[in-house]
Amino acid sequence: MTAGVGCGGFDGGMTETVLDGVFDLVLGGACVGCARPGRLLCRGCSGELPTGAAPAWPTPVPAGLVEPWAASAYAGTVRAMVLGLKERRLLGLAVPLARLLAAAVSCELPRGSPVVLVPVPSRPRVVRARGHDPTRTITARAARQLKSGGHDVTTSGLLGLARGVVDQAGLDAGERAANLAGSMRVRSGPLRKLLRAGGEVRAVVCDDVLTTGSTAREAQRALEAGGLEVVRIAVVAATPRRMAVQDLGLS
Ligand SMILES: [Zn+2]
Repeated sequence: MTAGVGCGGFDGGMTETVLDGVFDLVLGGACVGCARPGRLLCRGCSGELPTGAAPAWPTPVPAGLVEPWAASAYAGTVRAMVLGLKERRLLGLAVPLARLLAAAVSCELPRGSPVVLVPVPSRPRVVRARGHDPTRTITARAARQLKSGGHDVTTSGLLGLARGVVDQAGLDAGERAANLAGSMRVRSGPLRKLLRAGGEVRAVVCDDVLTTGSTAREAQRALEAGGLEVVRIAVVAATPRRMAVQDLGLS
């Protein structure tokens, strides 16, 4: 399928736009996209954000990976937003980032059994150092936005990390895959809670950025080992060299 055909707009989460404004007023600052003083994301930059999503296969594709969908290429304003939330803790960006993630989750997803959004787990040490877990935050907000848009969606911190995983930065695709193999596990408490609700559940692995796809693949493996059906990987953005930027309207 050609990326960019994707699907149309996602317009959930209007209430949160108001909250976003409150955050901006409290925190002040400048637009992460164009540096205009005021809101963390000015109306101009906000208006240029993608509203749909498209498949975003990494190259090479990790064997067995379910279809990954991204709302954007990892570039420009979206990249600045991801880094702003992650590294500078600009919490007001969580809402627009969640809207992008929600589009990646819901675009062309067939209707059917309930969907559970599962954030890729971060290392506890990193979460402590940052003071927050951005992937978890935007996943929870995306679930809320989709729910308010009428989707049967929940979120669950189903995945945990085993010990011995080193930082992925600086590793090539093969090294990443080796580092990650067997590094995630399904947490029994949240799994029991999910299964107690009964019925079929479809899992969507959620992350902020897709690079080689090895993290997403490991998350998929762990969920499948826990007996869950993984139907999609959903990310805010995919690295541009692995995704045709013009296909997402960002060229
Ligand atoms: Zn701007």
